[in-house]
Amino acid sequence: MADSLAIVHVYPELLGTYGDRGNVLALCHRAEARGLSVRVVEVGPDQPLPRDGDVYVLGGGEDSAQLAAGHSLMQDERAADILGSHPCLAVCAGFQLLSRSFTDADDVAQPGLGLLDVTCGRLDSRAVGEVVADPVGLDAVPTLTGYENHRGSAWLGPLAAPLGHLVTGVGNGDQRTEGAVQGNVVATYLHGPVLVRNPRLADLLLSRVAGPLPEYDDEGVEQLRTERLDVADPRRHRARRALFGRR
Ligand code: GLN
Repeated sequence: MADSLAIVHVYPELLGTYGDRGNVLALCHRAEARGLSVRVVEVGPDQPLPRDGDVYVLGGGEDSAQLAAGHSLMQDERAADILGSHPCLAVCAGFQLLSRSFTDADDVAQPGLGLLDVTCGRLDSRAVGEVVADPVGLDAVPTLTGYENHRGSAWLGPLAAPLGHLVTGVGNGDQRTEGAVQGNVVATYLHGPVLVRNPRLADLLLSRVAGPLPEYDDEGVEQLRTERLDVADPRRHRARRALFGRR
C-alpha cells in the first residue's frame, strides 16, 4: 500500500447498475473514517487494469453491458492475475464475470475469468427483491442485507465457499446459498449497495490491505440495516409475533 489506498473501480460505465458505484464510496468512507487517505482509480473498458491498486470493485450490469465488460476483461491478459491477487468485490454481473462461465441472454455459455470455481447459468425467471443471508466463516460480519435483480444463477464448485447461507431471497438459485468467496475475491448477487448496507464487509476488504481497523459505527447505516432487516428477515417477524402477538 502506497501513501494512499487506491480503490480501483473497474469499468464504471458498464458495471454500475442499481447504484453499485456506492460500493466504492462506502470503501472510501470507511477508510477515511479511520484516518486513511484514499483515491479512486476509474478504469475504462479500453484501458488495462492497473497492477498497483489496493482494492478492486466490479458492479452489476445489464446483459449487453456485461458481455462488453467480459470482452474487455478477456482481452486484458493481466486481468485475471491482478484481480486474483488483490482484495476484490464483484457484484452480480461482476460475480458472473469472475466465474468460470456464465450463460448470456441467448442461452449461450460465455467464458468468465475463472477466478471463482463457479458456473453461472440462468434462473427460470428473474429474481427480484430483498435478500437476507447469514455470512459463512466471516468473523465480525453480521447478517447480510441487500436486494437482487438478476436472471443469473451460480453453482459453486468445491474451491469456492458461499458468502452466505440464504435466509430469504433467491441468491445463487440453489435455495441455500448466496454469493461466493475464494481467496481474496468476495462475490455476491446483492445490491444495496452491498457495502453500504453491510459496512463490516467493506471493513473486511479494507483490512486485508490496511491491517486491523479501529471500531467505527455509523448510526445512519445501523438504522438502515434495522429497517431493511425488519422488513425482510422472517426471523424478526417471528420474534415480533412471539412478543406482541399477531398484528
Ligand atoms: N445481467 C445479469 C443477470 O441478469 C446481471 C444483472 C445485474 O448485474 N443486476 O443475471
